[in-house]
Amino acid sequence: MYAAIDIETKLILDIVLFGRHGTDPAAVFLHRLREKYDLSGTVEVSPRWTSISANRMCFISAVRREGMRILVTGGAGFIGGHLVESFLADGHDVTILDNFEPFYAEGIKRHTLSIHREVADEVNAEYRFVEGDVRDTETVQKVVADADVVVHQAAQAGVRESVKHPRKVTDINVDGTVNLLEAAKEADVMRVILASSSSVYGKPHSLPYEEDHPTEPVSPYGVTKLTQEHMARVYTELHGLPTVCLRYFTVYGPRMRPNMAISNFVSRCINGEPPVIYGDGQQTRDFTYVDDVVDANRTLLESDAVDGDVLNIGSSDNISIQMLAETVRDQLAPELEIVYESAQEADAEHTHASVEKAGELIGYEPSRTIAEGVGEFIEWYQANREWYEPLVRAS
Ligand code: NAD
Repeated sequence: MYAAIDIETKLILDIVLFGRHGTDPAAVFLHRLREKYDLSGTVEVSPRWTSISANRMCFISAVRREGMRILVTGGAGFIGGHLVESFLADGHDVTILDNFEPFYAEGIKRHTLSIHREVADEVNAEYRFVEGDVRDTETVQKVVADADVVVHQAAQAGVRESVKHPRKVTDINVDGTVNLLEAAKEADVMRVILASSSSVYGKPHSLPYEEDHPTEPVSPYGVTKLTQEHMARVYTELHGLPTVCLRYFTVYGPRMRPNMAISNFVSRCINGEPPVIYGDGQQTRDFTYVDDVVDANRTLLESDAVDGDVLNIGSSDNISIQMLAETVRDQLAPELEIVYESAQEADAEHTHASVEKAGELIGYEPSRTIAEGVGEFIEWYQANREWYEPLVRAS
């Protein structure tokens, strides 16, 4: 699958390069490498070299090859599903851990899995779906043990759901994450990339949000995501486990969750029903096209630029919910009058991302304006209406 000679050369170079700085025995590291890869006994080194983080850097270089082994938790879901599709297309081997949490129609997730299988077959990548729960320690240990990188998307998403079921959202988002970090620490994975959320900010003191803006979540969901971020940072600081938390700002695109503003507006307008806004519509949001989230994650598979840190992933093209409803309505059914209902509790008033830091550290650049992205989503919806719409409307 990858050239042994390449690894050998790289390994020696890396060990020489990092060897000067550290004290931990490189033998442990080599032993791990030999367990995972066939090095055919070609690499001879003496011990007493790399520090823990240098070990990891050597390891990263050594396995930088045609494909990594990536574990995507929540890979049957909306964002995770797109990540898996892209990782497979890039030639990585992917394992999904997902429990089909019945938050919305399972059929959307099943459809996503069938796309994965097609892509995996096309590129001849290894693809494995494990139906299981991130709260199940044993299952988590097993799947993490086989991974080079862990991309953690599994969560109970949805602010409103978290108000109804705060204990459940804490179990999944906090305890599940700790399970994963513990297993990753033991398995010595190269990096854990975690999905965080703009919900960690809560109350805006200034906009757009920069990453050092105060964090005062206004929902149990936001609290769990903030706790997850702190846990990840602590694992980096205490155990040298590289972690990165990406604060996504309202993500949309093909196969998106049904219970979100864009899918809801499109589905209603296309059926001649007026879009419904909760509140006065003056709440503002960054809506981020899912491809941009995928790009950020892809870059971070191989970049240590954000290890131990957090990063906003948004569009920075801010829009009010009212304007969004009008944009969708005008494209699909201009005659419809927008309907207003009372505001939902725990929804943030405004979210607006500064993506300057993401631009500097990983070259992140949003690819679409909201109007462009919404147009693309509508086209996709129309082309996939037959299977997607019944599932959206059933959720
Ligand atoms: P999603 O609900 O479509 O995907 C989450 C997946 O996790 C689902 O497939 C679900 O079955 C799985 N899951 C839930 N609980 C699980 C458990 N206990 N064990 C194993 N799997 C479990 O949501 P999404 O929109 O794709 O969100 C993905 C991640 O991004 C989540 O962590 C979410 O909090 C975060 N996020 C999403 C958005 C957004 O706008 N979609 C914004 C900010 C952050």
